[in-house]
Amino acid sequence: MLAEDVRKLESEKERLLEENKELLVLLGDEPPKPMNCGCCAHFMQHYIKIGISNYMETYAGHCVHGRTVNKKPDGKTCRYFEFGRRRTF
Ligand code: SF4
Repeated sequence: MLAEDVRKLESEKERLLEENKELLVLLGDEPPKPMNCGCCAHFMQHYIKIGISNYMETYAGHCVHGRTVNKKPDGKTCRYFEFGRRRTF
């Protein structure tokens, strides 16, 4: 009984490993990231203060590449786009 369960689990594991390999081939090494200002290293997220010490992200921010421009996190990218996250303080 126990041996049968172990055999089933090993079979399931092999199937999942094969499925995982196929998905990695389809997606490449890294899953695709969205191309928008919110994923750019030059995007500065805006926050609002809630209560005494809590902050929450707003649907707003600005770009700090070259000059400050108001941007939305899902805004259209420009030629200076770089994947990354700006350090927050
Ligand atoms: S405008 Fe360009 S540089 Fe600025 S946050 Fe968007 S993609 Fe990045």
